[in-house]
Amino acid sequence: MAEFWQDAALKRLWAEEEDRALTELRKQGRKMHEIGAALGRSTMSVGGWIDTLNKTIDGPPTKKTRKARGCIRCHATFMSDGSGHRHCNPCREWLAEAA
Ligand SMILES: [Zn+2]
Repeated sequence: MAEFWQDAALKRLWAEEEDRALTELRKQGRKMHEIGAALGRSTMSVGGWIDTLNKTIDGPPTKKTRKARGCIRCHATFMSDGSGHRHCNPCREWLAEAA
């Protein structure tokens, strides 16, 4: 099971911006299922990713201002981590699949 979460295919699905969002939500004391809902991920997926991050984290994350932004593909509103984060989670996954 541990090896499963280290699969490169899974890591590809978790973008750097989501890492920061996840870390921020954890600092706010959010439960795994709340983080999953916020990021559009399953609770199991969040739990597995937290486990992976705990093994690889090497310092406090950079503080970023999050704000609501419209996805440039489907126009859904989502929480953006910054100017480089322009797609909602479903579209990010779609783009990753299409790449
Ligand atoms: Zn979208």
